[in-house]
Amino acid sequence: MKKTALFLFLLISAISAFAQDKPKLIVGIVVDQMRQEYLYRFENKFGENGFKRLINGGFMLTNAHYNYVPTFTGPGHASIYTGSTPAIHGIIGNDWWDKNLKKNVNCVEDEKQKPIGNINGNGDVSPWRLLSSTITDELKLFTQRKSKVIGISVKDRGAVLPAGHLADAAYWLDITDGKFISSTYYFNALPDWVDKFNAQKLADNYISREWNTLLPIAQYTESGPDDSPYEKIYVGKDKPTFPYDLAKLNKANGGFDMLAHSAFGNDLLTDFALAALKGENLGKNSVADFFTISFSSTDLVSHNMGPNSVEVEDTYIRLDKNIEALLGQLDVEVGKDNYLVFLTADHAVLDVPQSLKDAKLHAGVFLKGKVVKDELNTFLQKNFPNKILVESVINHGGELFAIERGRGPSLYEKRIKARKLRSRWN
Ligand SMILES: [Zn+2]
Repeated sequence: MKKTALFLFLLISAISAFAQDKPKLIVGIVVDQMRQEYLYRFENKFGENGFKRLINGGFMLTNAHYNYVPTFTGPGHASIYTGSTPAIHGIIGNDWWDKNLKKNVNCVEDEKQKPIGNINGNGDVSPWRLLSSTITDELKLFTQRKSKVIGISVKDRGAVLPAGHLADAAYWLDITDGKFISSTYYFNALPDWVDKFNAQKLADNYISREWNTLLPIAQYTESGPDDSPYEKIYVGKDKPTFPYDLAKLNKANGGFDMLAHSAFGNDLLTDFALAALKGENLGKNSVADFFTISFSSTDLVSHNMGPNSVEVEDTYIRLDKNIEALLGQLDVEVGKDNYLVFLTADHAVLDVPQSLKDAKLHAGVFLKGKVVKDELNTFLQKNFPNKILVESVINHGGELFAIERGRGPSLYEKRIKARKLRSRWN
């Protein structure tokens, strides 16, 4: 894994106001790990009706960011939607050490909740650790809760945190069976439209395909070579290059994880977004509704391949078409002048540190959380004898990401495993 360190919360980028004074629907789009520079780097590959429609029809903030670390998905989504930072809204990582409970906790994990849609799924989830109200909460309060608020994402935290505490529903992808699920925080059964969507088994369809570049690969001149030493080689392949036979890799790598780690994860979420628009009647209310969408596969692909990969470029070329489809459907369902869209990122990404080092730039990573922890404690014990002051180092610290294998897991262990898998997704 060529892990990239994330330390720059980059952009509130393309904000578009198609709407008049009072929109019928507000659509918040987060593109997980998107750098603002991609708008320029991939400009010649984008069509007129995706990213460019937002840029040309709306306005763009070129230097808007919150000043905090760490810039993971949980803190990013919480900051965008609360307008505050981790010290205030409480989402200080995707996972963190709870010094009172003496254990690692996940930002949206909630043991009081159960999954809805798949009892084995990663659905013990709610926004209870989010300490501030979100813009979606405030809309609910302002309209006497008449506004409908729906959040969707491949990642649970990408759906749950933006939708806020008062949401009607949040849905995310359960990678054990490829279905969109929810939790008892929202209701006790999935609505019909979600059951119908899941029954189409679109995830099965996507995972049976081969992921090849949308354009001839020689045209990907904005990126580095396809075969690069800074990319992950999947089990079942000998090079990190196109094409990716997802069905074959899926068998080797497990669950629907490979779908989320390909551009098709965004296609599936777009299909689900279009179904949600109709299924939830968004924008047909007497007051404004709010629909939050977070595209996760941009992040997952880039974590494995790095921001200079052909895989990332292809993911953005395809995402541009996803956004075009979404805006087109909003025109039809809600009406061109009746909705307001903003698009931003929860954080950006650094070049692969080893690639920078190899290019003679100063860069590096902390490899082992345990080593850092032990060295810090040894140092601190000189002044504080017999005290273990650093109890845990997590987030890229190694310990959390190990997934136990072996004996048949209990239901609880399955959920823990699903949660750990989820935690691994930054
Ligand atoms: Zn993220």
